[in-house]
Amino acid sequence: MHLILLGAPGSGKGTQAELLAKRLGYTHLATGDLFREAVRGGSELGRLAQSYMERGALVPDEVTIGLVRERLERANPTAQIVFDGYPRKWVQARALDELLASRGEKIDAVILLNVSTPILVERLSGRWVCRAQGHNYHLAFHPPRVAGVCDVDGAELYQRDDDRPEVVQRRIAVFLREIVPLIAYYGAQGVLHEIDGAQEIEAVHRQILSVGGIPKAGSPPRPA
Ligand code: AMP
Repeated sequence: MHLILLGAPGSGKGTQAELLAKRLGYTHLATGDLFREAVRGGSELGRLAQSYMERGALVPDEVTIGLVRERLERANPTAQIVFDGYPRKWVQARALDELLASRGEKIDAVILLNVSTPILVERLSGRWVCRAQGHNYHLAFHPPRVAGVCDVDGAELYQRDDDRPEVVQRRIAVFLREIVPLIAYYGAQGVLHEIDGAQEIEAVHRQILSVGGIPKAGSPPRPA
């Protein structure tokens, strides 16, 4: 079962994808994390991605789709994947369907996390991220046990460059423009579910499990 989390920057996609990975064994595929990894590695891809990311713009489709193709080729054939931050555009959604179809697979559920712009801005401005694995924290709503240190792996926490206020506004504007055709695309496929992403983390998680038809960890498989 493959799942997509759609939502604006700050809507909680990363946090929810982490929970699905930790509790249900999903493979978390986050294009933003892959780009940040490439930036840290100093590769040509990293330099190219950085020039878009620092402006809050989207990395070109050919590059992004190529990255996802490569990541899927490396994935365990039985992996259940949660896509976080991909697709962000209709053309990326089409490409993903084609990539999965060539493996005899498909997207089973698409969850749209709805959050109002003022809440997004508040969340992003307080967000701190684990340098090792991208675990997310918020200074007010989800602080780490020790300031500046990741609870999970002890790595240093940092504030992303693109969480600066002027870049945040641009990223939200890009999201609002591109989400419209994605909603139409997945709506027509009958796989789209909307959730109020302003709720508590655990409440959003429970709703993802129920609307996405995902069995909870340890629960018996459903009858066919
Ligand atoms: P995120 O961590 O998902 O907020 O992504 C951070 C940045 O990476 C975005 O603002 C884009 O510059 C780039 N990025 C991530 N995913 C994509 C995508 N699917 N298409 C284009 N650019 C992306």
